[in-house]
Amino acid sequence: MGLSAAGIAGLMSGSRALAQIGDPYEPDLILTNGKVYTVDPLEPRTEAFAIKGGRFIALGKSDDIRSLAGRHTEVFDANQMTVVPGCIDAHNHAPGAILLYDVIVGNPYQVEFVTIASIVDKLKERARQTPPGFWVEGFFFDDTKVQDKRALSVHDLDQVSREHPVSVRHRGGHTTYYNSKALELAGVTKSTPNSAAGTFDRDPNGELNGRVTDRARNVFLNVGKRATFSPEQTLVRNRDALAFISKQFVRYGLTSVHHQGGDLFALQQVRTRGDLLHRVSYEAQADMLETMITKGIATGFGDEWIKFGATAEHTCDGSFSERTMALSVPYPGVEPPYQGNVTTTQADLNDWVERVHRAGIQVNCHANGDVTIDMVLTAFERAQRLFPRPNFRPKITHCTLINEDLLRRIKAIGAVPAPFTSYGYYNSDKFRFYGEALMQRCMAYRSFADAGIPAAAGSDFSPGPFAPMMGMQGMVTRKGWNGETWGANQRISVDEALRVLTINGAYASYEEAIKGSITPGKLADFVVLADDPHTVDPDKIKDIEIVRTVTGGKTVYQA
Ligand SMILES: [Zn+2]
Repeated sequence: MGLSAAGIAGLMSGSRALAQIGDPYEPDLILTNGKVYTVDPLEPRTEAFAIKGGRFIALGKSDDIRSLAGRHTEVFDANQMTVVPGCIDAHNHAPGAILLYDVIVGNPYQVEFVTIASIVDKLKERARQTPPGFWVEGFFFDDTKVQDKRALSVHDLDQVSREHPVSVRHRGGHTTYYNSKALELAGVTKSTPNSAAGTFDRDPNGELNGRVTDRARNVFLNVGKRATFSPEQTLVRNRDALAFISKQFVRYGLTSVHHQGGDLFALQQVRTRGDLLHRVSYEAQADMLETMITKGIATGFGDEWIKFGATAEHTCDGSFSERTMALSVPYPGVEPPYQGNVTTTQADLNDWVERVHRAGIQVNCHANGDVTIDMVLTAFERAQRLFPRPNFRPKITHCTLINEDLLRRIKAIGAVPAPFTSYGYYNSDKFRFYGEALMQRCMAYRSFADAGIPAAAGSDFSPGPFAPMMGMQGMVTRKGWNGETWGANQRISVDEALRVLTINGAYASYEEAIKGSITPGKLADFVVLADDPHTVDPDKIKDIEIVRTVTGGKTVYQA
């Protein structure tokens, strides 16, 4: 919409522009001379906009918007740079405390190859400062980002220490590697049986190799010692951790993130101190979820900065990246035949979904494989039949491997998938474990878009890097860091990827009326990009520099 003189009458009465020219409420900020992709179908492109009180109040041509400026208005000349709505990550573990305080053995943010020796050295260093009997733990390991081209093993970790239990967690979150001391403390031997929910892996000679998957890891929960902190120390740690990760999010262009649990009190303190730079859809788990159910806190409680969203992911199977998700066919080339781990039963899942749904809380289940997506949909369909709710939007976190029947049921029940985004680039080295036939049905953004299903972006950080531009490149090219392309049939366009990263994320938390597009009346969350993803080499989208990130009209990151 233009704001020429002739348009002023329209501005005064038009519902899409809330500013009043000449009134004392001049805009706080105007952006002019931009290539603005609004993600608003009513006005997809514009040059300029005005912001007041943390919201967009008008869009239009640069001259018209400039004419709204008063003496105190900050004017930002975008100099023909690209502007998009603030990006939304609909599934993130926000592991700030790990990043700040723990031993990081891989690169959380980018593709980087490390050596097993470097992992052992880092852990040895930590072991030197740790009393015997206490855990020494490494994080952000990625089994396909190791220069040695072999698996990390119990023998490597025995080099770290024989006095400490030692573990290295895969960044995917579903497998962990242990040393002999840890296995001994947990009473695990080579004759300990596997279960449907998790495995103790063996080498070709039948000896434990140290890798343990999914629920089998429960035996390590209560063995060994861990540092303890007073409530005051814990609060300070959590506060610093959340402030730290908030800075990382906005540095990459995220203005809203769906957090998997975390310290809600610390989050509020970070906000009070002015250090919360992104908006949080808080996805409750464990005690907090129980409190919500029993005390009557439903989805939507909170405000535009911290709001209760769906539940945290209710885990139903294993992981894509670690190859433990539940498949209806055996994993190609794996002996003995293996179809992944199912970590719940249909009956338990039905009960959980029904209880949460009845409490007015948006359900959210983690299901990667076609087996468990089917189970989750069965539970959703049952809950909705027993207790119909309008506008039902159950989340399926990951929703990785689909088929035509699952697609139809997802659409029919109104479920919102949040598949991996950055994996298309970051984890292409794992696609060969599934093969082209399965990859044509994994992270199926094309299928979702064609079916009219508003799939949102779920980086799943730690498992995937959260950079939205890396996510966009993965969705647009399906080409990995190693140059391999898998499931090219699932490619989507830059505009479709932008919707996934913005308005669909808002929809996933019932917030599409207040965020997800540059629309008058919505929260003024946006990102300025140094290049236009529509015109750069698609293989360079991930390298586009974030020039500025603005949340609620306030600049929270500047290059
Ligand atoms: Zn997750």
